Amino acid sequence: MKKLYVSNDWFSIQQVAQLLEAHRIPFMVKNEFSSGAMGELSPFDVQPEVWLIDDDWFARANALVEDLKQVAANSRDWTCYRCTEDNDAAFEVCWQCGEASPDTE
Ligand SMILES: [Zn+2]
Repeated sequence: MKKLYVSNDWFSIQQVAQLLEAHRIPFMVKNEFSSGAMGELSPFDVQPEVWLIDDDWFARANALVEDLKQVAANSRDWTCYRCTEDNDAAFEVCWQCGEASPDTE
């Protein structure tokens, strides 16, 4: 077992999990079910972790995670030029008016 990735952000944990799944790399998520106790614990105590079941996959998996971080750093929230609504980077079109993101060609 080897720890691959830790984040407070469930969205990025899920992205890493999906990526590993897509590459058929065996993994598990720890602290996955701790969020139910959020009321008593600080968010840092329930930080989810992605662990590789087989250490041999680490170099491959780590490269995938680095790629993912690169993509995340390049995609930022954007403001619709038509209706000036703020959109999350994950959206390709404005959720308010349907205008395409300026990043989308
Ligand atoms: Zn818009």
